[in-house]
Amino acid sequence: MPDLPQVDELLKGIRAGDRMSLGRAITLVESRLDAHREIADRILTECSKGNPDSIRLGITGVPGVGKSTFIESLGLALIGKGHRVAVLAIDPSSSISGGSILGDKTRMEKLSASEQAFIRPSPSRGTLGGVAQNSRESILLLEAAGYDVILVETVGVGQSETAVHDLVDCLVLLLLPGAGDELQGMKRGIVELADLLVVNKADSDNIDRARDAGKEYKRALHLFPPRDSGWNPPVLQASALHDTGLSEVWESILSFREKHLEAGHWDARRREQSVRWFHEAFSYELEKVFRTKEGATEALAEAVEQVRTGSLPAVAAARDLLRRFLS
Ligand code: GDP
Repeated sequence: MPDLPQVDELLKGIRAGDRMSLGRAITLVESRLDAHREIADRILTECSKGNPDSIRLGITGVPGVGKSTFIESLGLALIGKGHRVAVLAIDPSSSISGGSILGDKTRMEKLSASEQAFIRPSPSRGTLGGVAQNSRESILLLEAAGYDVILVETVGVGQSETAVHDLVDCLVLLLLPGAGDELQGMKRGIVELADLLVVNKADSDNIDRARDAGKEYKRALHLFPPRDSGWNPPVLQASALHDTGLSEVWESILSFREKHLEAGHWDARRREQSVRWFHEAFSYELEKVFRTKEGATEALAEAVEQVRTGSLPAVAAARDLLRRFLS
């Protein structure tokens, strides 16, 4: 390919905080072409340490809860404190339908206008796992470019909050006032994963309802077993629209960080994540190698069918395929 970018040049640009180089590198990371992947791998090897002092924050919640508004308000406040803020999105809908829950509206206009912010929409193709893998790598690039607060946004549907939990140091769950119905409908898993709960839209007529909702969530949290780290997720109230309660949210995130750093949990969580990423990547690459063998893809489809109809047990089918094509 004639105009493949040079690794050294891109690296230099990224480290100098050049947005164009950063954008190109992220595009390479998201690409499925082997030639692009090779360059991406070489760049990533140089950036693999990330920034140990950064904060990777996940923001999740149902559509309409106020994620973009929250990210914009918090992001601008953090820029005011001297941080450089990057925003990534993991959008499960894009991997299923090619459509997007997160990406289509005009979002975060003020934040995107800031020189100190970098906003990258979710890739519109790929499986959820693939998108999450891209995001991991993008985080490393963003940190190499000097962004020290990384906000990863995802809709609280499907498996995407598990994916985002695996990417970040701290997961913030945004909730709506009027908890009753939501608590019923909400999957227990999301609440269990969250490190911090924020009842958003605690403004005008909603202030009392938000307070009541907060109490209910607090009660609900007691039903979960205590965490290994000893951290009790706080339940806060905020208005992303009117910019109230956000400094308390940030204080709470800093205190989460402090506590987890002291006990060694912060670094341990990143190390564990790296190991999980490795295992995922390894399985993915292994399957890719498998599929390069002649007839393997067809045999795989056949095996899936046999497992579906019950004529072959799953594990035996998998082992048999590997024996036939990879030994
Ligand atoms: P997302 O789908 O979770 O990203 O939600 P958005 O940030 O797009 O917000 C959805 C709607 O809720 C928009 O009309 C926002 O203006 C509104 N909204 C967001 N945060 C607040 C808030 O704190 N208070 C009020 N009253 N409205 C809010």
